[in-house]
Amino acid sequence: MTAGNNNTIQSQGLYVWQADNLLAATEALSSHWQQDQSDTEIGVTSNRITTDTRTIKAGDIFLALSGDNFDGHDYINVAAAQGAVAAIVSRPISTSIPQLVVSDTRLALGHLAAYRRQQHQNLTVIAITGSSGKTTCKEMLGSIFGRLAPTLITRGNLNNDLGVPMMLLELSDHHRYAILELGANHIGEIAYTTEIVRPDVACILNIGTAHLGEFGSREGICQTKAEIYHTLTDAQFAIVPDKDDFTNQLRRIAEKHTSHVIGFGNTDVSASHLDVEPERSEFKLHVGDQVHDINLPLAGEHNVNNALAAAACAHALNIDVSDIVIGLENARPAKGRLNSQLLGMHRLIDDTYNANPHSVRAAAKVLAAQTGTQVMVLGDIGELGDAAVSEHQSLGRTIGATGIDVLLCVGEYAAYSVAGANEVSAISAHAFDDKESLLQYLQTFLQAQQAKPCTVLFKGSRSMQMETLIDALVEE
Ligand code: ATP
Ligand code: UDP
Ligand code: MG
Repeated sequence: MTAGNNNTIQSQGLYVWQADNLLAATEALSSHWQQDQSDTEIGVTSNRITTDTRTIKAGDIFLALSGDNFDGHDYINVAAAQGAVAAIVSRPISTSIPQLVVSDTRLALGHLAAYRRQQHQNLTVIAITGSSGKTTCKEMLGSIFGRLAPTLITRGNLNNDLGVPMMLLELSDHHRYAILELGANHIGEIAYTTEIVRPDVACILNIGTAHLGEFGSREGICQTKAEIYHTLTDAQFAIVPDKDDFTNQLRRIAEKHTSHVIGFGNTDVSASHLDVEPERSEFKLHVGDQVHDINLPLAGEHNVNNALAAAACAHALNIDVSDIVIGLENARPAKGRLNSQLLGMHRLIDDTYNANPHSVRAAAKVLAAQTGTQVMVLGDIGELGDAAVSEHQSLGRTIGATGIDVLLCVGEYAAYSVAGANEVSAISAHAFDDKESLLQYLQTFLQAQQAKPCTVLFKGSRSMQMETLIDALVEE
């Protein structure tokens, strides 16, 4: 086979960016082409738009973003040297490759992604937001839809105003479904990404207290998440949680846009005969009037809720319940979300990926259902703004009330969580200034257990990197 043939095969199904469609997609940003070297027509052909010279491939178009650490405009000649065929810039520099000049490159990324999505007539898009469980639910949907047809699924956690467009730019013509996670760190972010994504099915998992500092109140969080429903038309679907403090508000907002509102938890899609085991759950899945047994290989009742949300999204698109069941039974937890391993006779549960008050409560419930002495190792929860002290106290009370045996906290707010826990139970709760002293205490504690196995669950905000404690225990 010749190299030419090979290239043809590789580019099959890939969208082709050229001078004219790049210009059309970014028209609203006063875009124009600039070429230093000659006056001839701009001849750009590429399948991929990339923002990083550390991962660029020959033939890509380089889009220069400016971030906290670097300005992509400083890397245009690096990109050219690595084979980039053009650059998208907000100010032209002196370089050998053609430059598409736009008023704002971050917005250009969004416009290009929106254009690409609009060109893909056969694509059905599911978008998911919520305070907790987005990645998990997205993986469950990936497991359902990936078996049925080519499906683009958000990689990792690319869920913000840059990540969502980057994911959409990975669409190729053969994709039939896209499952996209939309996150919100600030007001208006979901409105921005939703407008680009234009979901056929828009799902809100729950309204918690993540980023409470930014949004001011849970009411603010509810309004922000509900932006995911804003582009829906009556031919499209809103998926709403039935058992959330904000169920009624969410339903009201969704009904302004579509009459196809599907509830999960209690109404259209629900679970009965729930049996939550330490590492999995069994239940009967009710979808409309159909009932199927499910063996979900993920720990925690909150994951049953995520599974119901995924089932509701699939049901909206007329997917057979038997395919939903197979997909859910083959779903796997992503790293740092309640993965468990043995350390001698003790079990360590890694839930360190991230934490907000909502997910800490869910994790405490999971721990309380485990065997042996139950130990929670908790790092600070970040981004709570003025509510930090009261939220940590309140979390401590909730954790204490679950009846777990030991709570070890580290961070600026550790003492508040411990005080909360002590208010409501006889739990053995301790605050530590740093992870090293917590580790020493925990090691001694585990060694002293003789024949009494413990289950230790680790959790905390991403910034606390609580997984280093698990690594230290396992490596020892
Ligand atoms: P992020 O906002 O960081 O992208 P996410 O919404 O994608 O988070 P996941 O990564 O799926 O959420 O899960 C993160 C943690 O949240 C899990 O480890 C678990 O502890 C908790 N969690 C997941 N689903 C739920 C839920 N439905 N209710 C409460 N807590 C949950
Ligand atoms: N960038 C690049 N090459 C480098 C360093 C940075 O192309 O060697 C790009 C990066 O991908 C991003 C932009 O420069 O699009 C701004 O970088 P940022 O400050 O966001 O840095 P990062 O978070 O990637 O370290
Ligand atoms: Mg996520």
